[in-house]
Amino acid sequence: MSLLTVENLSKNYDGKPAVKPVSFQFEAQKCIALIGPNGAGKTTILRSLSGLLKPSTGSITFHNMKPKEDIRHYIGYLPQYPSFHTWMTGKEFLVYVAKLAFIKPSEAEERADSLLARVGLEDAKNQRIGKYSGGMKQRLGIAQAIIHKPKLLLLDEPVSSLDPIGRREVLTLMEELKTDMTILFSTHILSDADKVSDELLLLHQGQIVEEGSMDFLRSKYQTSKIELTFSNGTKTYKSKIESLKFVQECYIEKEIIHVVSSDIASARSEILAAVSKDNWPLSTFSISRTTLEEMFMKAVSS
Ligand code: ATP
Repeated sequence: MSLLTVENLSKNYDGKPAVKPVSFQFEAQKCIALIGPNGAGKTTILRSLSGLLKPSTGSITFHNMKPKEDIRHYIGYLPQYPSFHTWMTGKEFLVYVAKLAFIKPSEAEERADSLLARVGLEDAKNQRIGKYSGGMKQRLGIAQAIIHKPKLLLLDEPVSSLDPIGRREVLTLMEELKTDMTILFSTHILSDADKVSDELLLLHQGQIVEEGSMDFLRSKYQTSKIELTFSNGTKTYKSKIESLKFVQECYIEKEIIHVVSSDIASARSEILAAVSKDNWPLSTFSISRTTLEEMFMKAVSS
């Protein structure tokens, strides 16, 4: 059963489409990464889902939602550039946000305390936010986004501006939170998506060009390739390798010859046989998988 169904959501700015009609469904307790380059439409989709932006077309429905019910009860949102009252302490800020969400004052205190513990800020709860690190601010931002216990948490580029430590802290927190809610987060950093997400939506020029689990995308787009270098005459050997039977594609990048083949084992045997027979001055030889970035480029160009 789907938690959320989005149908034909689109957004035009001044008549120009930023997001073309997109449809998708999410199940409960999943972490989904919305991936795309700058300008792909990630923020526009997240802001439309959050209720902050009115989409040009489309509908957003939660399972068991009553007609005309306010969708904002279901959704927590952390924008790409959150702003805080830096003179407040972490706890004061959460109590303030809880009150804005119409939570009773006695409960607001309790929720603030338990959430601060949950996001790892218990020891810093009485410190002013102005003294928090970037990672601490993001974790506080996540706490404010879930103060009203939403079913869907939307995070816009939650780790892009953080250092490696802050990044790991926030990604770990996201992994913990998905036991209680569905998380949709945007990123253009594919390795972050790989670390925490169950599903990916690849967005390009306002359209979803691919969706599915990382394993599905790997099986569809990831191939092996051989990388080799010669002590002299890289270009000469490239043209020799290109003519071999099992070699599909061959190109030079950073003085390294890259060989793509759908039968990597046969290509390897063929190349090594040629190296040994004609005594080619081989310096390095390795087999690697195509990177996430290469997979993304393939998905957007297919
Ligand atoms: P980034 O990673 O840079 O944040 P994004 O994938 O989140 O990019 P959006 O911010 O959703 O992309 O922008 C999608 C397109 O819509 C871009 O071409 C952008 O210039 C345009 N756009 C966004 N907001 C507005 C606006 N308020 N008015 C006009 N055009 C806009």
